[in-house]
Amino acid sequence: MSEQFNRDRWLEEVKKQITDQSITDHSVLKRIRLAQIHKLDLQLLKWMRPYLMNDRANIVNQMSQQILDLYKILSKIPSQKAKEYLKNMYAEQTRLLFKGSLDQSVLVHCEQSAVFFLDHELSIANQIALFSLYRRALIEAIAHEVNHPEQMLFLSESLDKFLSLEQQLILERYQQLKHKRELEKEEVIRFRAYHDALTGLPNNLVAEESVVDLVKGYKNNNRSFSLLKINVDRLKIINEIFGRQIGNELLVALSGRMKGALKDFNAELYRISSDEFMIICRDCLNKRGLTHLIETLLRTTEQPYHIDGKEIYATFSIGISQFPYDGSSSIQIMASAEAALREAKKSSRESFFFYNNALHQKLLMKLNTENELQSALYNHQFLLYYQPQVDACTGALIGVEALVRWEHPERGIVPPSAFISVAEETGIIRDIGWWVLDEACRQMKKWQDRGTPKVPISVNLSFNQFHDDSLVKRVCFALEASGLQPEYLELEITESTMAEDLERSIRLLKEIRALGVGVSLDDFGTGYSSLSYLKSLPINQLKIDRSFVLDIAQSNQDQAIVTAIVSMAEHLWIDVIVEGIETKEQLRAIESCRCRAIQGYYYSRPLAENDFSDKYLA
Ligand code: C2E
Ligand code: MG
Ligand code: MG
Repeated sequence: MSEQFNRDRWLEEVKKQITDQSITDHSVLKRIRLAQIHKLDLQLLKWMRPYLMNDRANIVNQMSQQILDLYKILSKIPSQKAKEYLKNMYAEQTRLLFKGSLDQSVLVHCEQSAVFFLDHELSIANQIALFSLYRRALIEAIAHEVNHPEQMLFLSESLDKFLSLEQQLILERYQQLKHKRELEKEEVIRFRAYHDALTGLPNNLVAEESVVDLVKGYKNNNRSFSLLKINVDRLKIINEIFGRQIGNELLVALSGRMKGALKDFNAELYRISSDEFMIICRDCLNKRGLTHLIETLLRTTEQPYHIDGKEIYATFSIGISQFPYDGSSSIQIMASAEAALREAKKSSRESFFFYNNALHQKLLMKLNTENELQSALYNHQFLLYYQPQVDACTGALIGVEALVRWEHPERGIVPPSAFISVAEETGIIRDIGWWVLDEACRQMKKWQDRGTPKVPISVNLSFNQFHDDSLVKRVCFALEASGLQPEYLELEITESTMAEDLERSIRLLKEIRALGVGVSLDDFGTGYSSLSYLKSLPINQLKIDRSFVLDIAQSNQDQAIVTAIVSMAEHLWIDVIVEGIETKEQLRAIESCRCRAIQGYYYSRPLAENDFSDKYLA
């Protein structure tokens, strides 16, 4: 019979076996068959150590001790009977234990273990391997104390039963927790998919779905709802000046105030893009009711925001549309709010705009023009007119400006003023513009090949073309395809085209100039007209706008301005041409400003190809 199980010695032994060194000591690792477990789980072993040595070990220890004590008493009884007794005794103990009445701490440990396994993403196979390691450590510890083989067998059986029950309990808890976490994760993913991360507001997906649902629900009920599309003014500038963090804080504060303003209305707020919000007002509010809502919104948000010691004001523009009056489908009603918002942004008087019939007609016409432009391009309905540029002193042709025309099957020749802005808005201008560039180069080369005076041809570049990354490539292509020398091509751009990013514009213009192509600043005097930045622009010509010419014969002031522009350009080695000369008086006045290069009806209107070549190139 062995001596009594010594708990302290047993603990010491376990400690000795599983020390930090033993974790890295190969012989120990081998002995406890750690090879079955991934290296990663060495970490786990460290974690198991305190677990082994504390309460958990106490329970096993107490149990073992009780069993040992009993065994001692019962050793005098015939062995079969003793075994049975102990078996029943054990069954009772485990039953009580796992009912939780024996020791709550076991359950706590099971919970902790399950959480630990989850946190470390330990597979079930690894959990089982870890348990076998744990069992081995316990058995080895007990074996030190127990010499009697029968006693050892009995103890290890008891321990196995105990451990397998515990393992089962942990596994169950593990599965429960895992399932719960997966659900939570799904919940988070679902929340993120439908909410804006910054403000926590429902996002554009929810907004769109809500509109679709409302249209479906209200269609047959004669009910109406309103959409308010809101754009925060100057958010980009606020971000640039104060930094993105402050811009974000402003948006959070702003959305908080907006939400507050809506609390008395049956309306929901959504954040649908970085600087856009949407409000869906489910009540059938009339225009007065909506104006009241908007005024409440504006009043609540107009006070300055104090962020990071800075005082920031946030203003916004609102476009409003109402179902079913401004659109009978979800797409239409949202497009109407968007169109109304664009109008609100244009207006300097009001910050909000209700979609109305006039806007509807305007958009219809635009849509119509857009379709027609596409088909015009496809059906080759564009053509070029050419306007001469003349030296007023000699009357010699010094250049030609190519001006696009649309030969409409019903309307006849349509001037650019009727379609350029729609073409710009829709982007079709790019295709039209590239065609103009190719055609102008081709035509000029054709004229030159006929032995006519070699003068440059000017081509107007739209905003879209100038901001198209392929611009330089397109210019090279037009020159190559036509065989025109680069010095006979001049590109006309306006100040507003370059204003958005002056640095990039200068870089681009330098590239164009490096090709040998000229650059002319068109409509000079109508844009920013900052004389100071002229010297930084790599241009070779200035075109003084027609507006200076209109009254020049009578206005000393206009003459003084033109004279100043001419002398400054001279100083910068930039040529000057004046456009829009219609009368002899205007011509005289311009000449007195020491300007010789002229383009205007006085000499000729823009002409079709044949008329131009008959008149100037014969
Ligand atoms: P712009 O480039 O400033 O072209 C000069 C405009 O002034 C032309 O109008 C021309 O016919 C007109 N003009 C010339 N002399 C006189 C004059 O003495 N009196 C008056 N009242 N007008 C005169 P057009 O051809 O109608 O073109 C208008 C604008 O459309 C152009 O202004 C240009 O900005 C744009 N544009 C024309 N063709 C193209 C093109 O191919 N591409 C692009 N992007 N824009 C073009
Ligand atoms: Mg021009
Ligand atoms: Mg012009």
